[in-house]
Amino acid sequence: MPRILLVEDEPAIADTLVYVLESECHQVSHALTGGDGLGLLEKSSYDLVILDVGLPDMTGFDVCRKIREKYQLPIIFLTARDGELDRVLGLEIGGDDYVTKPFSPREVAARVRAILRRTSAVQAQPVESKGLTIDDSTKRVVCDGKSLDLTAHEFKLAAVFLKYPGQVFSRDQLLDHAWDDPGAVTDRTVDAHVKSLRAKLRAARPGAEEMITTRRGLGYAYSPEND
Ligand code: CA
Repeated sequence: MPRILLVEDEPAIADTLVYVLESECHQVSHALTGGDGLGLLEKSSYDLVILDVGLPDMTGFDVCRKIREKYQLPIIFLTARDGELDRVLGLEIGGDDYVTKPFSPREVAARVRAILRRTSAVQAQPVESKGLTIDDSTKRVVCDGKSLDLTAHEFKLAAVFLKYPGQVFSRDQLLDHAWDDPGAVTDRTVDAHVKSLRAKLRAARPGAEEMITTRRGLGYAYSPEND
């Protein structure tokens, strides 16, 4: 049974979400503040976090940053503000999806299902390529024995590349593989995440050839000969 952590200070919203998610056979823990949510994460493991942006003790973005220091699990933001800035900020600091209030609880449940489906699809196959390894149980990419600190999207991109060495992926294909609502993001988002993934790979292996190569006009490929 997938375990979900819901951090939301409005009881009415939390109650409906808990009800709908539990009716879809998820196990839901609910925290009213960011601090309580982080406390629950320390004590137990979860498959996904639903995070309200407007919390009484800190913003959902702050909570997300703290979660990303330690965990790779997917995060969906809930926000009352319909601002492009919030959406971009949420994704930049490591969120996986974004729902604007007022929303239908069924819509949130559908996003949860989509993300969990994708995470378990990536989990299905352990992948190893010379010095680069994917550890699905911990959602980490290990490079020469060193664990890389990747966001959920960077991890998903790395998982796709490592699974199909040498294959060229268009930006659209990468959006489909690594984002749950591909229509809501642009090619530039893919470029930005590939760029940050490359930077982390470079930092892990200074001076090495670029492992993810750009194929002009086509997209990106993982080149194992450079691994
Ligand atoms: Ca709130």
